[in-house]
Amino acid sequence: MLYFIDVIIPIPLQKLFTYRITSAENEFLKPGMRVAVPFGKSKIYTGIVYKLHTEAPTAYEAKDLHQILDDKPIVNARQLVLWKWISKYYLCTMGDVMRAALPSPFILESETVITKHNIEINESELKDDEFLVYEALQYQSSLKIHDISNILGIKNVLPVLNRLIEKEAITVEEEVYEKYKPKLVRYVKLHTDYTSEQRLQELLQDLSRAPKQHQVILTLFSISATTKKPIKVSKLTEESKASAAIIKALIDKNILEEYYIQTDRVEYSGDDNENSKSLNNYQKQALEEINTAFETQDVVLLHGVTSSGKTEVYVKLIEEALKDNKQVLYLLPEIALTTQLIARLQNYFGEKVAVFHSKYSSHERVEVWNHVLNDASKAQIVIGARSSVFLPFNNLGLIIVDEEHEQSFKQFDPAPRYQARDTAIVLANIHKSKTLLGSATPSLESYFNAKQDKYGLVEITKRYNDVLMPDIELVDIKEKFKKKLMKGHFSDRLVEEMTETLKEGFQIILFQNRRGYSPIVECNTCGHSPQCPNCDVSLTYHKYRHQLRCHYCGYGIAMPQNCQACGGVDLDNKGFGTEQIESEVKALFPDYKVARMDLDTTRGKHGYEKIITALEQQEIDILVGTQMLTKGLDFRNVKLVGIMNADNMLNFPDFRAHERSFQLMLQVAGRAGRTDTRGKVLIQTYNPNHNILQQVSTNSYFDMFKEQMDERYNFKYPPVYKQIKITLKHRDYNNVESGAIWFAKALRSVFGDYVLGPESPPIARIRNQFHKNILVKIPKQQSLAKTKEAIIKINNSFSSIKDFRSVKVILNVDNF
Ligand code: ADP
Ligand code: ZN
Repeated sequence: MLYFIDVIIPIPLQKLFTYRITSAENEFLKPGMRVAVPFGKSKIYTGIVYKLHTEAPTAYEAKDLHQILDDKPIVNARQLVLWKWISKYYLCTMGDVMRAALPSPFILESETVITKHNIEINESELKDDEFLVYEALQYQSSLKIHDISNILGIKNVLPVLNRLIEKEAITVEEEVYEKYKPKLVRYVKLHTDYTSEQRLQELLQDLSRAPKQHQVILTLFSISATTKKPIKVSKLTEESKASAAIIKALIDKNILEEYYIQTDRVEYSGDDNENSKSLNNYQKQALEEINTAFETQDVVLLHGVTSSGKTEVYVKLIEEALKDNKQVLYLLPEIALTTQLIARLQNYFGEKVAVFHSKYSSHERVEVWNHVLNDASKAQIVIGARSSVFLPFNNLGLIIVDEEHEQSFKQFDPAPRYQARDTAIVLANIHKSKTLLGSATPSLESYFNAKQDKYGLVEITKRYNDVLMPDIELVDIKEKFKKKLMKGHFSDRLVEEMTETLKEGFQIILFQNRRGYSPIVECNTCGHSPQCPNCDVSLTYHKYRHQLRCHYCGYGIAMPQNCQACGGVDLDNKGFGTEQIESEVKALFPDYKVARMDLDTTRGKHGYEKIITALEQQEIDILVGTQMLTKGLDFRNVKLVGIMNADNMLNFPDFRAHERSFQLMLQVAGRAGRTDTRGKVLIQTYNPNHNILQQVSTNSYFDMFKEQMDERYNFKYPPVYKQIKITLKHRDYNNVESGAIWFAKALRSVFGDYVLGPESPPIARIRNQFHKNILVKIPKQQSLAKTKEAIIKINNSFSSIKDFRSVKVILNVDNF
């Protein structure tokens, strides 16, 4: 009898590759174990055993397996079912899925670069071959696999390296991630003994003999008269010109009280020290309805307005799942995965919470993987972004998908181009468990499914603590410009409200959907505007760096003094981004602290965290930012939100632009007035009668839904029709054009009028590649599987045509 295995290799091969194994190996191997296999002339890959069988491949002679790398599976059977589903549904290879699913240290291959792990290890525990590699890394900072091959004088070094990784002696090269530790800030306030008028008078009397201390207390008063913010010790010393010793004396005498605002939010030490909150009646009812719906439905959508306390409802559901000894996956968009939320969950569940984040080092990811695989109590609740659907759960009881409307759940590039929310639902099914989708502004897809009774639907319409929804006012800036009531991009209304808010000691968020200073620079003499040489877009002006930059490929040049076409010196800025708003705010409110949050200011390792912390600690009065601001942040002291310009969102060329604008604006608005005082939102627009703006200002999700669904019916868009987008790319325009025409024609012969295109997208060239899009619309009654089969067939014929072989084809199912 001959024995074979089908192996998944992390490269895009359409079929699995078959290798020969011995009967002893056949006894030992199980699906989900790693093996080292030869591929091509000299490459060795780490593969995952998919299946054991006895049928020799017909097209080629099966090679022998190189080596077995595990003694038990690191990928379980349910994961393999999920991988298979993803590869079929999203039209990608199992290798694509494997690469996305496994942390990189699991898939050592010829190209991997190995470095020493900067952790002290006990060298005496290393075997001889391990020590040789370890020692070599003392002298060289990094080694490639083939270097190590030479050092050891053997061909297959993967087992040695895997052992070294397990012993934490080496690691694979990548950006090193450091944990974020915000500094502790020291604050003071007057001791509560002295809050009554009388005690205060007595105190000042007493202190008349200690003039310096007296001065400190008076300064404290004058500071607190102008601001409601906590008072930093540093500020008090500075303004009262008192020494640290004087302040300390006042603290020792219990006249002042010092305190720290707890800011350490990544690192968790200690136990779960908090009981979950008791729910209010709306939350209780929602919880009951969710549980009832779960009796008959696998998926429930929780539609709860911003700050209605959805998270606390999730916490109750998590508690229930834990009681049954089940694992829980809490899925969030990457950017919403803030330490704010992590800390909140850790307060309730302590060490049971594991975080899976792309910013974590691969070692930390391997650690979470192993905890989940071994069902350790340390990772009973995994809170993570998109890729955490790939963890080796074996006992899932519940998946929560928070902010389910977020488009970033869909992986755009590279393959697998999966939608993590939808994949989560499939994953839950594989585990026979349930999925809860949560949002204040559900995607049309999910709400449609709920309305069709495919999902249960539960709503919370009140904010927690009966805080009112923010008051949303539309400001017609066409009018304001006419009446000369604009200062730069600020209407008089916005300036008024900002002034008032700042005076009251509250904070402000200003939202502008574009970064940079201005997206277009135009010559007033000849009308020329500088373009990216690699992409069909105008370059954005970044004033701070005095540069023109391309937001698609990163190309940048110094801002020219003269027009490159006519030499004119009169260059004008068209449109505006966050940078320009920031500088205008600084000029309008010079006495307040202004900060900016966008891709440019959050690039550094902890840029994002730092800004959030500063806002929480009220070191920032006004924060200007892009949609990064919208993601589920819970700030106590923000009262006013200004949306600088609603129009460019609404006019974005995409059938989802209106839905997204609605979601974005309501989400930003939701950052205002989350505690006691009612928040205020000002939306500046040229078109205050736009239906979406009316719906935003009245918080009418359902009206938005109905109207947008009508359009989706009329124009045959999702969720009414499914769609697959086919993108062709090539350096040569003619090539991509003739390829796209051929492809579209072939599709039309099967699907007729349900094929749109080919069309050039709004940005027709990116990184010197010309793009063409073709859209296939799929009515509900048409088989999705058959449709995909036909597309794959056409794609195969396409790539066998010599002229088209170099055209890259991207298939995107349920494109976003
Ligand atoms: P959402 O996720 O719906 O936007 P959150 O869960 O963040 O809302 O709740 C908003 C605020 O209200 C949070 O600060 C939260 O701590 C508080 N909150 C919500 N529910 C309760 C409760 N049952 N008891 C006490 N505080 C609550
Ligand atoms: Zn470019």
